[in-house]
Amino acid sequence: MLAGMTVTTSCRGGQAPAAPPHKWKGRKDSKVKRWDVITIGNLSRNRYWGESDAKAVRAAICTCTLITGDGFRLLVDPSLADAAEMAGELDRRAGIKPRDVTGIFLTHEHGDHFAGVAHFPNARWLAAPAVAEILNRSARLPRRFENATDRLFDAIDMIATPGHTNTHHSLRFDCDGLSVVAAGDAVATRDFFRERRGYFNAVNVELSARTMDTLATTADIIVPGHDNYFLADGIV
Ligand SMILES: [Zn+2]
Repeated sequence: MLAGMTVTTSCRGGQAPAAPPHKWKGRKDSKVKRWDVITIGNLSRNRYWGESDAKAVRAAICTCTLITGDGFRLLVDPSLADAAEMAGELDRRAGIKPRDVTGIFLTHEHGDHFAGVAHFPNARWLAAPAVAEILNRSARLPRRFENATDRLFDAIDMIATPGHTNTHHSLRFDCDGLSVVAAGDAVATRDFFRERRGYFNAVNVELSARTMDTLATTADIIVPGHDNYFLADGIV
C-alpha cells in the first residue's frame, strides 16, 4: 500500500531542518510540587470577542490558581464570592477542602480578585506590602493582610508587575522544569498578551506593555488574570 508514496516530514513537503531543542526557563529542583487552575477566568468585556470597552456585558471572574509544595497550599486570587461554589471548584479541580488552604495571595486590590477570600479559615492572607496597605486601609475585609516577602516558602518569587495598577505583583515559580508566572491582571488574557495590550482600566498602558515584555523573557507558562494558561513562547 505504501509503495510509491512519499513520506514527508514537514507541511511544505520537504525535509524539515532539525530544530534546536527548546530551552525551557524553569528549574527542575523546586519545592513547588504541582499547580492547578481552580477557576478559569473571563472578562466583563472582551475587545477580542468584538465587545466594546464601554460597558460590561457579563460578570467578571478571575483565574484562580492553587500552588502546592512542601508545607504549603497557596491560593492565588480566590475568585468566587459564594462559599459553596468556591469549595466545589476547589474539590473538583484539586480534591481539597477550603480548610486545607494554608495561604491566600492577592495580586492586586480589585474586588474580583478577592471575592472568595473569606472562605478559607486556616489561610494566612498575603499580599505585596503596598497592596496589603491599600486593602488594610480600605477596611473592606474582616482581617488584615500580611506583608508578603519577595520569596515565599523558599519556593515562589513575588515580582513587581506594574501597569494594570501601580502596585500589582505576580508570582513566579519553577515546576517540572518550567517557569510559571501566575500573572494576575498584569496579563488579562492570551490575546491581550499577544498584542501587549493592557486591559481598558489599566492605570498605565505603556508600563503594562513593558511588564508583559519582561514576563515574556521570564515565563514558559503564563497564567493570566482572566483566561486559561498558555505557553509564553508560543505566541511571541
Ligand atoms: Zn484588576
